[in-house]
Amino acid sequence: MSSNQTTNFCSVYGPVSSWRYGRSLGIDPIGTVSTCSFNCVYCQLGEIEVKTGDRAIYVPTEKILEDLKAFAPWDVDVITLSGSGEPTLALNLKEILQEIKQLTHRPLSVLTNATTLNDPDVCEALTFADRISVKLDAVSDDQLRRVSRPHPPISLDQLWQGIVRFRQQYRGEVGIQTMLLTPWDEATQAEYIRRMQELQPDEIQLNTPTRPKPLKHEFEGRGDHSNASDRPYPVRVLKQVSPEVLHAFARKIQDRTGILVRCAPTPAGVSG
Ligand code: SF4
Repeated sequence: MSSNQTTNFCSVYGPVSSWRYGRSLGIDPIGTVSTCSFNCVYCQLGEIEVKTGDRAIYVPTEKILEDLKAFAPWDVDVITLSGSGEPTLALNLKEILQEIKQLTHRPLSVLTNATTLNDPDVCEALTFADRISVKLDAVSDDQLRRVSRPHPPISLDQLWQGIVRFRQQYRGEVGIQTMLLTPWDEATQAEYIRRMQELQPDEIQLNTPTRPKPLKHEFEGRGDHSNASDRPYPVRVLKQVSPEVLHAFARKIQDRTGILVRCAPTPAGVSG
């Protein structure tokens, strides 16, 4: 058993309702100790406990398969690797994806912060997924340091090179997920649009925080705790942009790039 597990740990959770992908069964290849190469200011897990870019087997593949069998017949639209940190830090990522596909025959999706996309082993493992959602919340080093807070440090150039190379090689669907906490100025918007023109993702998803951030690591943050009654722990309300700002930026990106842009439903109930 890896150090990231306790005896009661279940590596499968949900299904949760995804505004974009329908019913999604979550797979957590990281475990009970939140572990990530970012420490995003809005992270629903709370403050990341282990900030690292080291890949390791955090949850054995056999444990994930055993947990997953209890959810048969997997009546969901997608199975998503996400969970308690950055899923591509799992050294057994390729084996996990292969085995889940073989067992369930469901579409597989992976959420990533892109910090590992310069690693050929990670890119090869991801070819076994049908869809990759890449987080990109910054278009400058300063923004990256303030919002994503990478550890170990990575420059925006390094991050971007990995994303572009991955996009060129990968045959599945690539979505870019971007979180706005405050409205972006004209120059930042223009730089984002320029990068999207270069990258040509299949779609862009714009979000603003809809849930408050736990003050410390809350394991249950990996699921969908949109209702206050589901959160018996202290939280901090995050800054967010209005639906009007989110939708105006979405329209601008779509007009200039021709790429489909979707907005997450906001607390006011407006969806893209
Ligand atoms: S990349 Fe995801 S798991 Fe990591 S800190 Fe950011 S929001 Fe949390």
